[in-house]
Amino acid sequence: AALSTPGYLDRLNPEQRAAVLHGDGPLLVLAGAGSGKTMTLAHRVAHLIVEGADPRRILLMTFSRRAAAEMRGRVGRIAREVMGEKAEALAEGLTWAGTFHAIGARLLREQATEIGLDPDFTIHDREDSADLMNLCRHELGFSRMAKRFPAKGTCLAIYSRAVNARAPLAAALGDFPWCAEWEAELKALFAAYVAAKQAQGVLDYDDLLLYWAELAAEPELGLGARFDHVLIDEYQDTNRVQAAILAGLRPDGRGVTVVGDDAQSIYSFRAAEVRNILDFPAVFSPPARIVTLTRNYRSTAPILAAANAVIAEAREGYAKELVAERQGGLPPLMIRVPDEAAQAAYVCERVLEAREAGVALKGQAALFRTASHSAPLEVELTRRNIPFVKFGGLKFLDTAHVKDVMALLRLAENPRDRVSGFRALRLVPGIGPASAERLLALLAAPGGTEALRGARVPARAAAEWADFVALFAGLRAGHGWPADLSALRAWYEPRLELIHEDAPARIADLATLEGIAAGYPSRARFLTELTLDPPAAGGDLAGPPLLDDDYMILSTIHSAKGQEWKQVFVLNCVDGCIPSDLATGSRAGVEEERRLFYVAMTRAKDALHLLVPARFHVHNQAARGDRHVHAARSRFLSDAVVARLAERSWPPPPPEEARAAPGPRRDLAARMRGMWE
Ligand code: ATP
Ligand code: MG
Repeated sequence: AALSTPGYLDRLNPEQRAAVLHGDGPLLVLAGAGSGKTMTLAHRVAHLIVEGADPRRILLMTFSRRAAAEMRGRVGRIAREVMGEKAEALAEGLTWAGTFHAIGARLLREQATEIGLDPDFTIHDREDSADLMNLCRHELGFSRMAKRFPAKGTCLAIYSRAVNARAPLAAALGDFPWCAEWEAELKALFAAYVAAKQAQGVLDYDDLLLYWAELAAEPELGLGARFDHVLIDEYQDTNRVQAAILAGLRPDGRGVTVVGDDAQSIYSFRAAEVRNILDFPAVFSPPARIVTLTRNYRSTAPILAAANAVIAEAREGYAKELVAERQGGLPPLMIRVPDEAAQAAYVCERVLEAREAGVALKGQAALFRTASHSAPLEVELTRRNIPFVKFGGLKFLDTAHVKDVMALLRLAENPRDRVSGFRALRLVPGIGPASAERLLALLAAPGGTEALRGARVPARAAAEWADFVALFAGLRAGHGWPADLSALRAWYEPRLELIHEDAPARIADLATLEGIAAGYPSRARFLTELTLDPPAAGGDLAGPPLLDDDYMILSTIHSAKGQEWKQVFVLNCVDGCIPSDLATGSRAGVEEERRLFYVAMTRAKDALHLLVPARFHVHNQAARGDRHVHAARSRFLSDAVVARLAERSWPPPPPEEARAAPGPRRDLAARMRGMWE
């Protein structure tokens, strides 16, 4: 048996096989979109397991929880080919597969006491973090300054940029020049913010990486020794803290594999550094082996040619032009439509047509730059009864009632968490901010739950208070999981019914939440994973009916990373959307938008539609209100790129006879409408 090579190696091309069979030294797979990087990574993991590696000692980092789950499934299927049944159990043992943040949270919880953290720490999402920042802002009196102090979201963004780039505040402020005058105050604010987090036993997203990097840098704490292999997908989108984690875990690079594509780096706004992947080989000595893959297996030749033309015009000059493995196929379409309503109608018609022809809805996706861009399409899909799931926009967890439930669970986990505490206590009618503040102080002290029982509360809250304390004490003691959530629902749902007309829909959401909860071993694990990687709106992971139904995918381009569909629509390929108005201020910003467009185009396997509406709606421009603007085709659709596309107008122009009817000599009505556009 030792002589026969496993069949799965035959499916790979020679470079992919070399990467899978590579030994122990550091390895970088640097290659373009659709060249099989993720597939190679899955084969490498499977091969390691087949060769006897312990799956529990393999650390595998992916871009989303979904990608990690997919990877485990693939590894199981590949290993099964040579190991049979037992492969699946082994793949289940890949418990350290997940996102950087989720894995960081688990490691920190396990080693919390060794590094001075409360093991029951709770995790704040971005919104909670901004709320805590705001509390600190108020307490320092900055929100009452005569000249307007930066808003909570901006403060958090500056803080996050500074810590993720491991840069001094002054350097981070380079990206926020209008805030530079506040450097001294911001410093004080951030010190208060860090102190508040520590006092309350909460970690924000950035802390998960920062503490992890510190932990990894201390060899005596033995973190590196827990893993034999460390593998990372999408390495181009890691930041300096993540690179430091890797260096801490594996100073000599042994057992390290990273894969990525510098032409697809799209997360600089989260302080991702494409230098990480470019510098990777030289970080180790002896230096890492580099494998490049040059064949694209995903897209047909005409789609790849158009995408290559877009990236060829990038200033950085990415060296690796891919060769299409799949010859034949139609050129991508550039569809001119009058407006976003027509854009939505076009997408629906093509989607239904493809479904008729046997392409499942799940094989089709509409991608857009910003979550709000899909609104007209969502309306049209709903009107036509086409099911869809949306990634990257408003999350299931962002709805108020789900947030309430999560806040209560978090408070039960960690009674010092003030942001969750405020939200949870305010669920009791009659408890206002001042009472909440006082009760939370009681709760944070030892024996806090007991103290709540006898606490003084406003007369209006008195009737409800005993019930609430009973619920909370039960949650604090723990009924088990997901029984805690059932107990919480039993308290909360009758109250929802009293307040909200749409209570049935909200109650259904909570039932869905309980369905999701059942998939987690413990309350802590549930809270952590859902906070870090919330399910998408409309059904990702959610219970029936969507789970086994067929549905189309709607996604921001950022969230579409690494995925592929037979038919892809890119909405709003117009200047102002792609590239986004927000990015056109700097050359680097525009270049990142180009890579983003390249990512969007390279998601398509068989059919790609680039939609160019003549007018589009500008949302939420606080100063100017909502309005329509005339749009120009995206600057990335240069003449050289358009030469590789087929151009169409939709709806098609009316036939000759219809056009022959004489219209008005001057369309004054249209001119009147035009004045307001
Ligand atoms: P991205 O940069 O978008 O993440 P990638 O390099 O990770 O892309 P994969 O998603 O791994 O690419 O592979 C793209 C497609 O090509 C998949 O459908 C995969 O199954 C297929 N593929 C990759 N390598 C081969 C191969 N040697 N033979 C046949 N199909 C392949
Ligand atoms: Mg990939």
